Amino acid sequence: MEFFDSHSHYNDEKYDEDRKNILKEIYNEGITRTVCIGYNVEKSKFALEIAKEYDYIYASCGISPNDIEDYNEENLKEIENLAKDNKIVAIGEIGLDYYWNKDNKEKQKELFIKQIEIANSLRKPIIIHTRDAVADTIQILKEHPVLEKGIFHCCPLNPELIKDGLKLGFYISFSGNITFKNAKSERAVLEVPNEKILIETDCPYLTPEPFRGRRNDSKKVKLVAEKIAEIKNMTLEEVSKTTYENANKIFKI
Ligand SMILES: [Zn+2]
Repeated sequence: MEFFDSHSHYNDEKYDEDRKNILKEIYNEGITRTVCIGYNVEKSKFALEIAKEYDYIYASCGISPNDIEDYNEENLKEIENLAKDNKIVAIGEIGLDYYWNKDNKEKQKELFIKQIEIANSLRKPIIIHTRDAVADTIQILKEHPVLEKGIFHCCPLNPELIKDGLKLGFYISFSGNITFKNAKSERAVLEVPNEKILIETDCPYLTPEPFRGRRNDSKKVKLVAEKIAEIKNMTLEEVSKTTYENANKIFKI
């Protein structure tokens, strides 16, 4: 069985000590594809560097709402240049985060829209980070349609957001959050048709149960797949195959 972890951060310092080993390990464990996600200029460059070194790793580039200090014209140009590389399969993670930052909403929206424009000019999909900002995120996507669509990453278990996201043609990516003791997971997972579902770890963060609190890595994407199999009454093999094909499709691999 092979798995596609649609969202990882092997560009994070938490892997500085053992990056080479962990990347070999995940591949040997059947995680034969992942996208290393950028979130500011420096980490986007590093994500691409990693992707160029490993055949089975792809990358994305973008400035996240939590890295808004990176937002200026020069850096946007830099993101656009990086994004032209074949190994960059999406613009992201980008979006809105009112959980960490409530006082710069307009600036966050502006940055989000400018990066949607970059994605559209290069015909690449986007990876959306949204936290406590569902209504504004959906409104922006309606007013600024994304040509190649994209992914709601680590999707908040909010059935309204999922409905709206699906209506806009987006994929929904579930992470370890569906394994936490929480009644919302089931409803959220059942809301997403098989052809729109993806799995991810968002590692090194969001470690699934029963390893919560420790550093995460792509091997644990299997726990997310198992939970989906359980909720949707599918075999693990069916979940691995479906999510793998979906990820290849949205990232055009
Ligand atoms: Zn992330």
